[in-house]
Amino acid sequence: MTDKEDFIRHTGTDTRAVRGGQRRTMEREHSEALFLTSSYVFESAADMAATFSGEVEGNVYSRYTNPTVRNFEERLALMEGGDAAVATSSGMAAILSVCMSLLQAGDHIVASRSIFGSTTNLFTKYLEKFGVPVTFVALTDLSAWEAAIQPNTKLFFLESPSNPLAEVADISAVSAVARQHGIVSVVDNCFCTPALQKPLALGADLVVHSATKYIDGQGRAMGGAVVGSFAHIADIVGFLRTAGPTMSPFNAWVFLKGLETLSLRMRAHSSSAQYLAEWLEQHPKVERVYYTGLKSHPQHKLAAQQMRGFGGVVGFEVTGGQDAAWRLIDATQLLSITANLGDAKTTITHPATTTHGKLSDQQRDDAGIKPGLVRIAVGLEDVDDIQADLIRGLEAV
Ligand SMILES: *Cc1c(COP(=O)(O)O)cnc(C)c1O
Repeated sequence: MTDKEDFIRHTGTDTRAVRGGQRRTMEREHSEALFLTSSYVFESAADMAATFSGEVEGNVYSRYTNPTVRNFEERLALMEGGDAAVATSSGMAAILSVCMSLLQAGDHIVASRSIFGSTTNLFTKYLEKFGVPVTFVALTDLSAWEAAIQPNTKLFFLESPSNPLAEVADISAVSAVARQHGIVSVVDNCFCTPALQKPLALGADLVVHSATKYIDGQGRAMGGAVVGSFAHIADIVGFLRTAGPTMSPFNAWVFLKGLETLSLRMRAHSSSAQYLAEWLEQHPKVERVYYTGLKSHPQHKLAAQQMRGFGGVVGFEVTGGQDAAWRLIDATQLLSITANLGDAKTTITHPATTTHGKLSDQQRDDAGIKPGLVRIAVGLEDVDDIQADLIRGLEAV
C-alpha cells in the first residue's frame, strides 16, 4: 500500500467517495480516466508471458481486469469498509456470482421472504434446479432464521429495509446467528448504499449492490458489485473471469462519478422522503405509511441505530383499494410511472399489479401488499412540486 492509499483509508466516507481508488496516468488528468479497451499490449514476448503467468502484475484482458472498473471497485470497497470489491454487469449478476462461487449442489440457503423478485426467482427457479434448495423466513423474526438452519446451510440472504413495506432486519443479530453456525451472511444494500448503512461493520460477511439504482442515481447504466473479505472476493473474481458477467468500463466510469455525489444525493432523497412521509401520515385519504423515518414505524429505533438516514422509498395505502391507487397514479403529471427507483426523477408504482402482480391474492395478502398500496421513490425535484403532484393524485381518489 502506498502512503497515499493508506492516508485515504483513514478519511471519512464522503472523502473516500471522491478520492478513493484513483490512479493517475502519465497525462496527469484530474478527473478519472475512462479506459475503453478490451485488451492490453506488452513490450516483449517475455513480458507477456510473465504477465500471463501472474509473475508480473498487469492487465491482460478486460474480462479479467480494467483500470476504470478497478477504480470503481476500490472506491466502493473503501466506502463500505470492506477489504475488496468486484464489479458485475448488473445487480442480479452480483447475486448470481456470489451463489456460483460460494455454493455447491447439496448446500442450502435461508433467505428473507421480502427480497427483490428476481432474487426470489433466481433461488427458486434456478438454484433449486442445481440442487441448492432455499427456505424463506420472515425478515424480522430472528428465531425463524435460527430455526431454518440445516446442517448444509451455507448462506443467509436479506435486504433491509425491505421493499415496499420497509421492514427492518437486525443485521447485527442475524449476522451473529450466521457466524455461530459458519454460515456466510449476505446483505443486499441497494436501498441504503454505504452512504446510509454499512452492513459489514454490523457483522455481515458480504454486501451486494445493484449499482443501477442509487449508485448511478440518474437511471443511465446497469451494474452491480459485491464487497467483502479478500478471500471471498477472490473466489467471486474467479467465477466472473471465467463466466464473464463483468462490468463494462464505460458503466464503471458512470458509477465512479456517481459515487462522488452519492452521499449528498442520499441526504436529499432522505430529507424529501421524510417530509412527504410525515405529511402523508396526516392525510385523511391515507390509511398507513411505510417509512422507517417515522416515529410510528414499529422498528424506528432499530433503523435509527443501524442507518445514517432513512432513504428515498416511501410506501402508503390509500383508502379505496386498487381503483383509488390507480386513479392517484394516473392523475399525477410530474412523477414517472415506473417500477424503477434510485433516480433523480421521482417514480411512482402500484406494487400489487406490477412487482407483486404474479402472486395469488392469498400470497399477496400474506406478504402484506394491499390493493391500495402505492410506492414512491422520492427524487431530487423540489419537494413542493412532488407534494403538489401527490395532492393532485389524492384529489382524484
Ligand atoms: C434492482 C435490484 C436488484 C437487481 O439489480 P439489477 O441491476 O436490476 O440487476 C437487486 N436487489 C434490489 C434490492 C434491487 O432493487
